[in-house]
Amino acid sequence: MLENALRFSHTLLKNTISQGDIVVDATVGNGSDTVLLAKLVGTNGKVYGFDVQKKAIETTKEKLIYTNLHQQVELYQQGHETLGEIIDPKIPVSGAIFNLGYLPKSDKSIITRSSTTLKAISTLLPLLRKGSLLIIVVYYGHEGGEEEKDAVLEYVSQLPQKEYSTLKYGFINQKNYPPFLLAVEKLV
Ligand code: SAM
Repeated sequence: MLENALRFSHTLLKNTISQGDIVVDATVGNGSDTVLLAKLVGTNGKVYGFDVQKKAIETTKEKLIYTNLHQQVELYQQGHETLGEIIDPKIPVSGAIFNLGYLPKSDKSIITRSSTTLKAISTLLPLLRKGSLLIIVVYYGHEGGEEEKDAVLEYVSQLPQKEYSTLKYGFINQKNYPPFLLAVEKLV
């Protein structure tokens, strides 16, 4: 019944993203969020996807071609902290998702890090259109994860209440660092 953080992130994306929208997958990984976003925005929309790993970009590109969703996706093998160089600030972004941590079944030393994650979040927030969500699924059980979790939590907790609503969602009685979700809604 109760959705875990990952499933809830998909529910929120499905509820807030429409055909023709411009959206961002800040951590492409194996591409499951990218595929969902590409379906939601359709051929008139656009997904900007970022990942530092070649393997992530290649796997996702293959998935998108296989599912015929590649036309509406631009993948960049570069850090999400550079997204301001790619995305036109004049075009409002209708949603964004981050999955923090490392790529499952891959090199566990390549992780998202607080300095670059915060740079990406702070670059994205002004680009979001009113009523849209920036979603962060926070995995923090790995080395380095706790530091990033604390930094991201502190950053989103201090966003001005008149401009943003920030939600924290997750199970509180599970062992082994269950991921939790942060959703920031742009109010104005
Ligand atoms: N959403 C993905 C999926 O559906 O499979 C999972 C993402 S995984 C938890 C985190 C990803 O962030 C890894 O693939 C890693 O390479 C990537 N990453 C690490 N640092 C990054 C950065 N600065 N910019 C973009 N991606 C980064």
